[in-house]
Amino acid sequence: MLRGKLPINEKTARFGSEPVACSCCISPGWDTIEHTFNNGYFASYVWKYFAATTGISTDHTPLIYLIRRWWSTKYKNEAHKLILQATPIFICWNLWKNRCASKYEGIQSNASKVMYVIYKDNYKLMTTVFPHIKCPSNWKDLIMLVERCDHEIKVTMVLWKKPPDQWSKLNIDGSALSNPGKIGAGGILRDHKGQMTLAFATPLGEDTNNQAEMEATIFGMTWSLQVGYRNVIREVDSQLLVDWIMLKTKPPWSISKQAQQLQELIRQINNFKCKHIYREANFAADSLSKHSHTITSPQIYFNEQQLPKEARTYHQLDMLEMANFRRRKIKRMKEPP
Ligand SMILES: [Zn+2]
Repeated sequence: MLRGKLPINEKTARFGSEPVACSCCISPGWDTIEHTFNNGYFASYVWKYFAATTGISTDHTPLIYLIRRWWSTKYKNEAHKLILQATPIFICWNLWKNRCASKYEGIQSNASKVMYVIYKDNYKLMTTVFPHIKCPSNWKDLIMLVERCDHEIKVTMVLWKKPPDQWSKLNIDGSALSNPGKIGAGGILRDHKGQMTLAFATPLGEDTNNQAEMEATIFGMTWSLQVGYRNVIREVDSQLLVDWIMLKTKPPWSISKQAQQLQELIRQINNFKCKHIYREANFAADSLSKHSHTITSPQIYFNEQQLPKEARTYHQLDMLEMANFRRRKIKRMKEPP
């Protein structure tokens, strides 16, 4: 990292200058990288102060390992992660500034000043990135608070909605046991009253999840045409797939053939929409796609009594437009209670 780049005496000595004493300590050591940044009296005092509350050991280790210890410490949340990554950099930078101020400007080396500036750097970083945390006025309280902070949880209400009059809705989901691996898909086609016209679960061999979804979309669209639906909303829980189907972005070559086939089908109906929905509004299709792993040939269901039990339950909840609650941790942090 810093090795070989800084004009420290250890390096300039190679060009003939005499080794010189450090500028950081009361009883000086040599002006070397390890001394200035890591194991000199002054540097190790500073490191120990910041590491004390984190459980990180600072003993007898080269600088690079010391920094890695900070970076590999198990973090409790995103704010904690940031502080563990930034602090060693702030420490090194401020040790260097202190050394240079002392060596070239004759300003007396001062540990509490250096430690305060390192704290202040962290404070500024935290208040900028996580403005919802009210940062305490010293390092010890700051790190202890950050450790106990948690991400705020955003709750969103998600529900499956019946399509408008004259429209039908096609919910499809692909499922891969591993990606790529054994794939399958499930789908359910419903009218404006929410009544199902058709549902299916089909194993699709070995491939990727995206291929499963594309195959299933073609299958579902073919059926929509057969039963005479001319206005179809296709709902997908992957934004990527929405963009590929609507040709907003070019699909990868592995599914470009299916994408073309699908465009042919779309051209044959009057209106087609492809919308992104959250997983929680796609549970009926999700359940059917998982069911596909338990069967060896495609299954088609013409009424809800024929549906596998779990899929039927989700379909019935959808008919009632029953809300699901989606709980998601967001970046914004909140202080501990
Ligand atoms: Zn020193």
